Amino acid sequence: MPLAAPPSAPVEGAPASGLTPGVRLSVLVEAPQHSGLLGPLDYRADRAWPPGTLVRVPLGRRTVTGLVWAAQGDDRWTLEQLKEVVEVLPDLPPLPEPWLKLIKFAAGYYQRSLGEMAMMVLPPELRQLDAVQWARRVKRLQKSLKDPAKGAQAADAPEVHWPAPTPEQGQVLQALADTSAEQPPVSLLWGSTGSGKTEVYLLQAQAALAQGRQVLIMVPEINLTPQLEARVAERFADRVIVSLHSGLTPAQRLRNWVLAHLGLADIVLGTRLAVFTPLPRLGLIVVDEEHDPSYKQQDGARYSARDLAVYRGHLERVPVILGSATPSLETWHNAMPVAEGGAGRYRRLTMPSRVGLGLMPQVRVLDLSQQPKPAPGHEAAALARPLLDAIAERTERGEQSLILLNRRGYAPVLQCSDCGWKSECPHCSAWRVFHKVDRTLRCHHCGFAERVPRACPDCGNQDIHPVGRGTERLEEQLAEALPGARVGRIDADVTRLKGALEEKLASVHAGEVDVLVGTQMVAKGHDFRRITLVAAVNPDAALFASDFRAAERQFALLLQAAGRAGRDAGVSGHSEMWVQTYHPAHALYTALRTYDYESFAAQQLKERQAAGLPPYAHLAMLRAEGKTQQAAQDFLSQAALAVEAHALELGGVLLYPPVPTAVQRVANVERAQMLIESDNRAGLLRLLSAATATWLSLAQKNRPNGLIRWAVDVDPLAI
Ligand code: ADP
Ligand code: ZN
Ligand code: ZN
Repeated sequence: MPLAAPPSAPVEGAPASGLTPGVRLSVLVEAPQHSGLLGPLDYRADRAWPPGTLVRVPLGRRTVTGLVWAAQGDDRWTLEQLKEVVEVLPDLPPLPEPWLKLIKFAAGYYQRSLGEMAMMVLPPELRQLDAVQWARRVKRLQKSLKDPAKGAQAADAPEVHWPAPTPEQGQVLQALADTSAEQPPVSLLWGSTGSGKTEVYLLQAQAALAQGRQVLIMVPEINLTPQLEARVAERFADRVIVSLHSGLTPAQRLRNWVLAHLGLADIVLGTRLAVFTPLPRLGLIVVDEEHDPSYKQQDGARYSARDLAVYRGHLERVPVILGSATPSLETWHNAMPVAEGGAGRYRRLTMPSRVGLGLMPQVRVLDLSQQPKPAPGHEAAALARPLLDAIAERTERGEQSLILLNRRGYAPVLQCSDCGWKSECPHCSAWRVFHKVDRTLRCHHCGFAERVPRACPDCGNQDIHPVGRGTERLEEQLAEALPGARVGRIDADVTRLKGALEEKLASVHAGEVDVLVGTQMVAKGHDFRRITLVAAVNPDAALFASDFRAAERQFALLLQAAGRAGRDAGVSGHSEMWVQTYHPAHALYTALRTYDYESFAAQQLKERQAAGLPPYAHLAMLRAEGKTQQAAQDFLSQAALAVEAHALELGGVLLYPPVPTAVQRVANVERAQMLIESDNRAGLLRLLSAATATWLSLAQKNRPNGLIRWAVDVDPLAI
């Protein structure tokens, strides 16, 4: 490890002698976009620390961590006028140049300040340590590395078993081995769930490791990291593998980040934030389930880790593999050859078959309109009779069923049978959800919770009843409808405590549950061996959602859920995927019947093209929050007005009128948004870059009128 020179002593109020020694450095400090501070700040230092060096600098009255951005500032201030760099974090090599370029790109693309972007992606703990504390950390770290915990035991580790690739894997591997292209390509690995994609990642990782390179593997959710970690650890017992996600303690996160940055970790497994891990020997990037919305950060700098991974691959000239059974339509379009109307940017590799005999379950679309109507005054049962019977049959055979309902709680709303009172949240434009376990009404938007009232707060009527159904109620109803079956539930409510999810999953694996009720949380990734039936209770909601991506997401979710069934070749022959619907002829279900992602994508793309939506157009969303809806919308209207002329000049850029968001008030804050659409990305970015300064000052002016916050979301996922 290169040892940094001892830090220079801070010179408090050094006399301006005109001969002040030192050099000018431009340094990034944490400064949110809204502070108005967009670029680096200049400081004086005793030597020209290279860009990427982490330093401590005075900012106002505090000393903060900064990142040397350039070994040269601007000449606006004389050296004497500049404050001095307090100290340099020792034993920390500068962040590498490609990392700095990635930050620069991300800040420019997602319209954030450089300082905010850079500081946001460093481990939080690193930003809080001064040089002395940091030095102590490094010592501890070095000591832990000398422990023979890693590496030494490799010799007596059990022989690692690598299965022989299937013919489909063989073809894919052959294509991936072709490194003749000048720029290593981005590949879309389009393969069914269980087609052996992960196996391909592992083999490619092995090849990269053999060349002395580091590998970055990204998964969408923390829940999925332990499984993959176990699989990776088993294959690469002699390697240093670290994970990076928000579930780690600050100390663990810092440790793993440092191991990666120092080149000591060989494999980094992580969620979206891992895309920013400095890796001096990077040789391969894998983005598993690339279509997953979790790759998009939903606040602050709203970056897409998938898109940044692609950019990073390009920057560092390393191959990128994007894997999915249901690629995002953007990726699909990029991977479609030009001759077929696509962009031809990525290489498309296909693995249609599941490994072994495992077939995808047979899809059964159950037409709810053909089912007997419930008696007057009665609610329709959660599951129609034929589906219940099918589940009962499985239970008898000792097989498991998975029932999906994407709504937690007991019932989404409570209502008074007399006056019509509903359990509205006093702070949001939303209903509070009834949770029966602790008899609370809880708002899923602001968290506001209260005990369920004994009687209607408006009229005193004692009969207040649940309307609709969440997972808690479904669990209860299924236990009633299926006597003898052991019904379990997995959702965010029962897995809140650390280790609860693992425990629940283990009990499913151990066969202690016959029927598992769950939200989309269980649809992803888990390798359930005994599940032979998956059912979606109420998937229709997505068909008529206002968000143009709803159908795409629902198709991906249903297919992924179906992939949970029949993962054991022994039982896959009779596994089934049920969907209950009032719209059996809908294109989404027609495509699902034959697992025909390709035709579903083609149909969706046709609609997108006709409507001028991504991937055929580029979007940005300007969002505003205010004390009143008027305040939020006023700012947006003024923001539109300010750039209208420029938009016309650029051509192809369209500004839509401001509208309230779907849930317009959350925690007493009113929210509105304005869509900006462009037929070309460059035009959109040019407009946004030019607008930022204007919008900043407009926001300042609107603050007294009740504007609270505003933000730009480039390539927004939720509309
Ligand atoms: P995916 O990532 O596409 O869902 P996996 O890589 O997890 O697929 O593979 C599905 C199952 O098939 C796993 O249990 C895996 O161990 C097994 N598998 C994958 N490739 C092979 C192979 N070439 N030979 C034998 N088993 C394999
Ligand atoms: Zn009432
Ligand atoms: Zn609320």
